[in-house]
Amino acid sequence: MSESHSLSSSVAPLLEVKGLTKYFPIKGGLFGREVDRVHAVDGVSFDIAAGETLGMVGESGCGKSTTGRCILRLIEPSSGEVKFNGQNVSSMGSHALREVRRDMQIIFQDPFASLNPRMTVEAIIGEALTIHKLTPTPESYRARIVELLETVGLNADHMKRFPHEFSGGQRQRIGIARALAVSPKLIVCDEPVSALDVSIQAQVINLLEDLQAKMGLTYLFIAHDLSVVEHISNRVAVMYLGRIVEIAPSRQLYTQPKHPYTEALLSAVPIPDPTAKKKRIVLTGDVPNPVNRPSGCHFHPRCPKAIERCRVEEPVLKFVGDQHQAACHLND
Ligand code: SF4
Repeated sequence: MSESHSLSSSVAPLLEVKGLTKYFPIKGGLFGREVDRVHAVDGVSFDIAAGETLGMVGESGCGKSTTGRCILRLIEPSSGEVKFNGQNVSSMGSHALREVRRDMQIIFQDPFASLNPRMTVEAIIGEALTIHKLTPTPESYRARIVELLETVGLNADHMKRFPHEFSGGQRQRIGIARALAVSPKLIVCDEPVSALDVSIQAQVINLLEDLQAKMGLTYLFIAHDLSVVEHISNRVAVMYLGRIVEIAPSRQLYTQPKHPYTEALLSAVPIPDPTAKKKRIVLTGDVPNPVNRPSGCHFHPRCPKAIERCRVEEPVLKFVGDQHQAACHLND
């Protein structure tokens, strides 16, 4: 994290997301008509200030990765608005979108699957340099690739090698170098450490923090567990079944959660002091099917604090403190 937790959404946002929605139609019947919808992302709104890291957390299938992909329009949103640096990304034509994608990059969860196994590291990193004509001579092309490799802790000897010759952590470094090649402003980090060993996770997170401090990068950092995003995030958004159920500055979210789902996720975060006791809140049941979402509060069948009202009335996301929003009737 490049600055203290005081960074807030009151700074002019670099990224503004309003009412972002993505449903996937389910087709069936004789004529292949739409018979139902999977509500992957359901009216998500947030912003991220320049230089800030917003952590986005939730169980698999909660819509966090779809949100990240919709922002870059790798997946077309069904509705809603995404503004980057004041420009409306949602309505851009393909030429303008290509330009803005230079400023918005993504790092994927599985560095092996996201790197072409038949391309050398040089070709993988150099592809964007060539497409965007960023290095006019062979010398500047080579020098830039070496610079990018060194920036992520690799070196010139790695240029001619193929992805399978690297460890998982090194492959993720190659993925980061590829994202940095076009000098982006925003990087969507889509579970960048989930596939790595715990010891390697910390190294990659430290690298991302260092890069942010040096280059003023802005991150949307997606993870399925709160412990991963704790130190890198200025603010954290918790998602459940396609919606943000709580969003707050990190310290507030970790010390004073206002949503029972966040409390349950936090109870699973290991604490460094082995003598300290923490009661684990075990959520019963799986995440419900996003096609057939429960009535009222979508979390009610699993919520240890549910009351009768929760079955019938949907809670809205509202302010419960300075920059702290949660969607739970218990805060009324
Ligand atoms: Fe639990 Fe009810 Fe709050 Fe939903 S609204 S999180 S069911 S207490």
